[in-house]
Amino acid sequence: MSVPRYVIIGNGVAGMTAAQEIRRADPDGVLTLIGDEAERYYYRASLSEWLAGDNADEAVYGRTPAFYADLQIKKVNGLVTHVHPERQTLTLQNGDTLPYDQLLIATGAKARIVPIKGLNHPNVYRTWQDAREIKAQLTREGELHQGRALILGGGILGLELAGALVKMGIQKIALVQRSAFVGKPILDQHAAKWLQRRMRADDLDLLLNDTVTHVTTEAGETPIAHCKSGTTWAFDLFVQTVGILPRYPEIAGLKIGRGIQIDEHSRTNHPNIYAAGDCTETHNPATSRWQPTRTWLDGARQGRVAGGGMAGRTVSMTTSPYFNASIIYDVFYAYLGAPHGAGEIYLWQEPGAYRKVRVVDGKLTGALLMGQRHGMMALYKAIGQPVAQYGDEIAAPEFPWNDLTGKDWGYDFY
Ligand SMILES: Cc1cc2nc3c(=O)[nH]c(=O)nc-3n(C[C@H](O)[C@H](O)[C@H](O)COP(=O)(O)OP(=O)(O)OC[C@H]3O[C@@H](n4cnc5c(N)ncnc54)[C@H](O)[C@@H]3O)c2cc1C
Repeated sequence: MSVPRYVIIGNGVAGMTAAQEIRRADPDGVLTLIGDEAERYYYRASLSEWLAGDNADEAVYGRTPAFYADLQIKKVNGLVTHVHPERQTLTLQNGDTLPYDQLLIATGAKARIVPIKGLNHPNVYRTWQDAREIKAQLTREGELHQGRALILGGGILGLELAGALVKMGIQKIALVQRSAFVGKPILDQHAAKWLQRRMRADDLDLLLNDTVTHVTTEAGETPIAHCKSGTTWAFDLFVQTVGILPRYPEIAGLKIGRGIQIDEHSRTNHPNIYAAGDCTETHNPATSRWQPTRTWLDGARQGRVAGGGMAGRTVSMTTSPYFNASIIYDVFYAYLGAPHGAGEIYLWQEPGAYRKVRVVDGKLTGALLMGQRHGMMALYKAIGQPVAQYGDEIAAPEFPWNDLTGKDWGYDFY
């Protein structure tokens, strides 16, 4: 019997996790990983630390150069343009074709760009190359020149970028946000106001309920962004962080909504074709809606399940309340379960930290921690437990969540 040919398109966290899972299940199959970024696998979520100068290149790479050879993964650099399910082959932009027995599409997403009159080449922030271009525009011969940076889009990515630029030493930064507050959907209005005060204290221009309508450039002058509110802002760097769009090659008959639709085994509607990560959406039975995949952890989980399935082994999806922890502007945050919405809300705050805990029908439902992570994992593990007997103290850092869950969780969240 011939050995199976596994092909993965996409060298991000979803593709990489799938590759490792395939190798765990099948040491002999032929495993090919195709990616169109020049680098080996890197941590996209570490780019802001790199930009800020907190991480060297080596800390951004997620695998050693020897990794691919050690796992007998054939790495192909190139862009896949078409998949032909009826023939079980795919085509690359350079004309090469490749057969597969089991295929994973883990092609992630690209930055969305809104057209703005007068702005021809906006920077975006999705890849390491994008981060290099941002840095190159603000530095000359390795030294920072006093640039003025405008960020359009005050979601998580825009805030993360603003924090990195502050750390780089950029003195004039404007963040333009269409709605009344920044950080949606991680922050609610209360938490956002807390963060916005902090940003304004750093002299950052926050333009809320606003957008850039057009850009003008006089010969030899710095370009000027014109906002709906009438504000004008001269800039050296204009970065759009206004959302992402899933990417995928052309595949006839593939079910696609706001991403490739997959089931709980990461299977698409085509036999032998799986998908995982930011290029997908999954059905949420609780809301009866399809929801796009957007986080590193979900990409890793889907990739693991897909890799197992491709190699003939059932790996069940880890299901647990929503978890995401990162940096928002310059503050650590953890979004646990469902912290926003109706219910009883308990708050704790001080100038550098903010904690919100939500209880619904007497049960812990979610929490948002900012600048203060004490007891984070135990609190996360306690979601769903009855806490009606407590009051305000459940938002305080010293609340003994470990006692409630009966275990010291440390940072173990898988
Ligand atoms: C700056 C930044 C910070 C982030 N921080 C966080 C965070 O703190 N927490 C969090 O949960 N998430 C974070 N994210 C989001 C997270 O990085 C993504 O959810 C995750 O990387 C998605 O992984 P993926 O494997 O699905 O896709 P990707 O990482 O996008 O990888 C897909 C790969 O496929 C390649 N590709 C695409 N199409 C083709 C094709 N046709 N042929 C060949 N190759 C192709 C792409 O070039 C890319 O290399 C952040 C994202 C950014 C940009």
